[in-house]
Amino acid sequence: MNKIMMKTPLVEMDGDEMTRILWQMIKDELLLPFVDLKTEYYDLGLPEREKTKDKVTFDSAYATQKYGVAVKCATITPNKQRVEEYNLTEMWKSPNGTIRAILDGTVFRAPILIDSIRPAVRNWQKPITIARHAYGDIYKATEYRVPTEGKAELVFTDKDGKETFRETVYDFECAGVLQGSYNKDSSIRSFAHSCFQYALNTKQDLWFSTKDTISKQYDQTFKLIFQEIYDNEYKDAFEKAGIEYFYTLIDDAVARVIRSEGGFIWACKNYDGDVMSDMVSTAFGSLAMMTSVLVSPDGKFEYEAAHGTVTRHYYRYLKGEETSTNPMATIYAWSGALRKRGELDGLEDLVKFADNLEDACIETLNQGIMTKDLVGLVVAGTKTTSVNSRDFIIAIRKNLEKKY
Ligand code: NAP
Ligand code: MG
Repeated sequence: MNKIMMKTPLVEMDGDEMTRILWQMIKDELLLPFVDLKTEYYDLGLPEREKTKDKVTFDSAYATQKYGVAVKCATITPNKQRVEEYNLTEMWKSPNGTIRAILDGTVFRAPILIDSIRPAVRNWQKPITIARHAYGDIYKATEYRVPTEGKAELVFTDKDGKETFRETVYDFECAGVLQGSYNKDSSIRSFAHSCFQYALNTKQDLWFSTKDTISKQYDQTFKLIFQEIYDNEYKDAFEKAGIEYFYTLIDDAVARVIRSEGGFIWACKNYDGDVMSDMVSTAFGSLAMMTSVLVSPDGKFEYEAAHGTVTRHYYRYLKGEETSTNPMATIYAWSGALRKRGELDGLEDLVKFADNLEDACIETLNQGIMTKDLVGLVVAGTKTTSVNSRDFIIAIRKNLEKKY
């Protein structure tokens, strides 16, 4: 066949451990035989981050700003043990954190669904995508363990040094706890833009929920900013696309989500998103089937798997043992990025290839060919063949070849 041509390069961010092995297999078996792959390659594997003093991570994020679409492999976030294991001169920051900060983006997580794995919630038929505002709130809060009686106050001093606000939080008559958290309009605005952009991009309704009835300044501000941006900048486009923006209280949202059939984006404040994304992803089946995309407020996209580098499997792989690591989410990171690149560059063949690749994956799973992690999740009575990562990818390739 003639290979499918690309115009603009994808920003390719390689990674670590087992996912780095899968990355190469996916390229060799599923991409390079079909696509004249154009990428600008950045090696975010830990050795290269160490060698470049983490400059490579920053460069890859700047390249994403330049080109607009990136695909990322899972990477190690170093901790003390990794510093020893890799002989690091510094405990380099999480690449995802660095990239997110530069792109000012929001992470959207969506599960891949197949017929033989039923969500724990029976009526969920379509994916539920969670958008988590990954800034501020309790994650950047100042906390104090109040040791004894005394007065806690909330004070604001403006930039000229003038105190413009002072209110008693509580007059403690005994020991207790105290917390001061904040957020910024600019960050909430970016979050809102990313959510509206992504809803338009994927043609799905957008839900947003907070607790504004109780939190009359803090959460209310989130609600008002979303509404203002929607009314002024997205209402027409949403109506044209036939999708809806819908605000409700967090507790009402939880009840509606459980009763829904899925197929929408649920935007959550930082803590709600942290908790709800774990609940939703577990209810849909498996972390190995969870995709993730970082969307910046000006519409740049970085696709990846939601899971990590699968260290336990990698150590087994190093010992020469067979591993059955699920490559689905990493394949979908590639298909997502290639589809977006195709859409932006007006390359129908490339968009079609992304669809075909995903279809080939689903067909393979529907044939019962799957990695070990999924075998335990399928509904009783499904005939399955448990295979290693390579054989799974080769089975997908066979299904993909039939389409060309
Ligand atoms: P993990 O890599 O997601 O793996 C945790 C466990 O989940 C695995 O041991 C495995 O369970 C199962 N699993 C995850 N993905 C799977 C897949 N594709 N196929 C089959 N099973 C899968 O999380 P971790 O072990 O906590 O973290 C490992 C490293 O990844 C850490 O260094 C961390 O910093 C990094 N990390 C990176 C990212 C990212 O780059 N986005 C995200 C999270 C973590 P079994 O062992 O029971 O089979
Ligand atoms: Mg969590």
